[in-house]
Amino acid sequence: MEEKKRTITKVEDGEKVKKTVKKAEEVKEAVEEEVKETKKTKQVETLTKAEEKSKATTLRIVAAILWAFAIGFEVLAILFLFKKLYIPWLPQMWAMIICIVLDLICCVIAALLWKKASHLDPFKKTNNKVGFFILTQLGVIMAAICFIPLIVLVLASKDKLDKKSKIVVTVVAIVALLIAGLLGADFNPISAEEKAQAEDSITGDVFWTAFGHKYHLYGDCGSLKNSATLYNGSVTAAIDNGRGELCYFCANRAEKEQQLKLDGLNVEEGVEAATGE
Ligand SMILES: [Zn+2]
Repeated sequence: MEEKKRTITKVEDGEKVKKTVKKAEEVKEAVEEEVKETKKTKQVETLTKAEEKSKATTLRIVAAILWAFAIGFEVLAILFLFKKLYIPWLPQMWAMIICIVLDLICCVIAALLWKKASHLDPFKKTNNKVGFFILTQLGVIMAAICFIPLIVLVLASKDKLDKKSKIVVTVVAIVALLIAGLLGADFNPISAEEKAQAEDSITGDVFWTAFGHKYHLYGDCGSLKNSATLYNGSVTAAIDNGRGELCYFCANRAEKEQQLKLDGLNVEEGVEAATGE
């Protein structure tokens, strides 16, 4: 009698386990389905090193030309200031403001292209920290060159502009300087060494969002929860698209998983050592 009872219990347990497993699988499938439905994932292609280099070179050349134009517009504004240049139907103040705006447009586009190039084909940092800083932050330096001389000359000038025009032109030029400086700064610079190291250590696909500055190792990372569209591709593609930094949470998770794997290996080795001899 007792044995019979025990057999029945075992069957029930087995069924229970099966049911639980099935339920867990169903839940997992449902979650995956939901992720698929709510998140659009766009695959981003990886450029070859040669493609990266040639694209970066083109961008840098265009940036240099645009910066030359920006300085040209600054010089024009200075010529308008000293009345070396004038347009009969256009007041001096407006001529100067137009030059400043054109200066700003060229300066900002140049800086954005320059930054893009710095991610496609980063500069080396080793033994050249100052050079690396200057090259990655060239957008800020050029913003200073494109506006500060003009601002100084306007402030120093006497009787070239009436009082009201002088204030307006100064304010517009300072605002332009701030915009160009902020947009020109590279807040996430990456060096050639850092990029190579990331490419060596991360072989699988990574994920990033439309506006985030970081890339993620896991598509289900908590910090990706609120993004409707995810981009995924190689770590090279992520860096090329301005995502040069690894997410803190993903880095921690990867480290923990790695540790668990190592612990598992150690346990196995321990068991083998204990039973083997
Ligand atoms: Zn993450």
